[in-house]
Parts: sequence; C-alpha cells; structure tokens
Amino acid sequence: MNYGRPIKFALGFIVVILLLATFLPEPKPRVISYVNACKSNLREIQKAKEQWAADHKKVLTDVPSDTDLFGSDAYIRARPICPSNGTYRINAVGALPTCSLAFQGHSLSPDSITSTNNARSIASPP
Ligand SMILES: [Zn+2]
Repeated sequence: MNYGRPIKFALGFIVVILLLATFLPEPKPRVISYVNACKSNLREIQKAKEQWAADHKKVLTDVPSDTDLFGSDAYIRARPICPSNGTYRINAVGALPTCSLAFQGHSLSPDSITSTNNARSIASPP
C-alpha cells in the first residue's frame, strides 16, 4: 500500500502547525493592554492636573510639578509608570500629558478625556 507516506506527511504537517500555534508568541493582546494601561495612566494624570488647577486657581498654561500631583498627600499616591517603560511628561494644564511612546499608541486624544468641562471652567473663571 502507498497510503502510508501521504498520511504521515499530513500528520507531520498537522503536528508542525500545532507546535507553531502553541509556541509562537502572541504579542498583540499584551501590546494592546499595555497601551490601554498607559492611556489610563495619562487620563489619571490629566484628571489630577485639572483638579490641581481647580484647587489652586491655576490657568491652562500653568505646569504642575511632580510634587504637586504625586505623593501620599497629593492627587495620585505614586507617579504612574508606563507599562512599556515610556516616560511621561505632565505638560501644562491646558495640554494633555504625553508618553514618550506616543508613536506606539501611548497617547490620549482630546475627546478621550471625559472631564474637559473642568478645564474650560478654569480658562474662564466666573
Ligand atoms: Zn506609555
């Protein structure tokens, strides 16, 4: 019988596919979750900036320092860390905080911030 060879070949092929499926890295879900974690850090920083500006009657061009925002008696207990080791820039109150890995999607779009009303009220105090 000549059936042996094609069946062995097919089985070998299936085994190779299964091995590839098992051992190939799947970077995408992790990368996406890192991006989302970074974005949520940036959102948290932005909220802290807006709260700081409201509490201290700051204007949109004021730039809070690390000690203004981070610490046990500040708005965020510890300075957030990018899960992909990007570096955060706090920036002025009127600008969004940025991550050095913005080109990998570590960035906020202005409409992703829910509390922009707060920033507008800072721009034109009553
Ligand atoms: Zn980042």
